[in-house]
Amino acid sequence: MTHLMNTYARQPVAFTHGQGCWLFDAEGKRYLDALAGVAVNTLGHNHPRLVAALSAQIARLIHVSNVYRILEQERLSDRLARLSGMDEMFFCNSGCEAVEAAIKLARFYGHQKGIDQPAIVVMEQAFHGRTLATLSATGNRKVQAGFEPLVAGFVRVPFGDLAAIEQVAEHNRNVVAVLFEPVQGEGGIHVASAAFMQGVRMLCDRCGWLMMVDEVQCGVGRTGRWFAHQHAGIKPDVMALAKGLGSGVPIGACLASGPAAGLFKPGNHGSTFGGNPLACVAAETTLSVLEEEGLLAHAERMGERLCMALREGLSGVAGVREVRGQGLMIGIELDRPCAELVGKGLEAGILINVTAERVVRLLPPLVIGEAECDELVARLVPTIIRFLRG
Ligand SMILES: *Cc1c(COP(=O)(O)O)cnc(C)c1O
Repeated sequence: MTHLMNTYARQPVAFTHGQGCWLFDAEGKRYLDALAGVAVNTLGHNHPRLVAALSAQIARLIHVSNVYRILEQERLSDRLARLSGMDEMFFCNSGCEAVEAAIKLARFYGHQKGIDQPAIVVMEQAFHGRTLATLSATGNRKVQAGFEPLVAGFVRVPFGDLAAIEQVAEHNRNVVAVLFEPVQGEGGIHVASAAFMQGVRMLCDRCGWLMMVDEVQCGVGRTGRWFAHQHAGIKPDVMALAKGLGSGVPIGACLASGPAAGLFKPGNHGSTFGGNPLACVAAETTLSVLEEEGLLAHAERMGERLCMALREGLSGVAGVREVRGQGLMIGIELDRPCAELVGKGLEAGILINVTAERVVRLLPPLVIGEAECDELVARLVPTIIRFLRG
């Protein structure tokens, strides 16, 4: 008996500690972590450099208000600006807050152009969070049901459908921005093509819209680039980051560039905790380790290794539709709902996730090694085959 709201269908396991890509429960059973706290534990568990940096920072300074300069935050912003080419950023504590800031920025941009009912183009199957504005932007009725009235000002198109956005451009004068995930995560691991992203970039330039990418899940090295939109060689005007940025210490960021930069003035937006010294040191350390240990190229290699081995192991298995992904964001789509695979995975000692009802999702830490990839496949493939044979 607990006093927790019943907001999660929780698995019957609790972990006591972790090491690298492994988590341990109280009985000493170990689990290979292919979920990483939903793309959060970028450096795995108990990474020595993160532990040392955080321990030192806790002893020095955890939190001060944003009414003062925060040098850790300034340093982190310089670094993220260098990696992304973006001009400026606002720090918050989560993904939905980062997207919420992006939505506010787009509306603010619209109002300054004299559009007083600004609208944002969003995608089917999108996931942007669970605050009222972000659940309204989300393309999943289950997330919205029961929380109406939704926030107005979103126009939805099929994911990856440039022609549909061009149609919107023709008859909707209120549009101020396009918002999408370069790789849809919750929606079932759908990778936007480079052509789509380039097309959106050109359309936004032509129409004076902001191109906004939600890289809360796919950003920070996971797809083998610092940011997933970089696969298309374009730069957005706004980007939301969170999950993997702090390796488990909550931090989010809304980055802005070009026409989206310089809009907010004191009083337009804010956050009590956002960008505090502890969170910023977690993010800075995460980025340092990713950079110095070559983990972007590593993520790309491990992703290819996993995808190849999964395709091989599952080839010809009835019920497997597709293995797809980018870097260490991998989906295995089955022909039927498969939520129970999460529990079967636990029994097999692997932590996996199922999203969009029939897609097994793998989001391991970026430090996963070759042997661990092979072990994951060796445990996962028979688990899926057994499930499909019922
Ligand atoms: C998880 C997620 C969010 C919401 O992040 P929270 O930290 O849970 O608020 C937003 N966008 C995308 C793409 C996500 O994957």
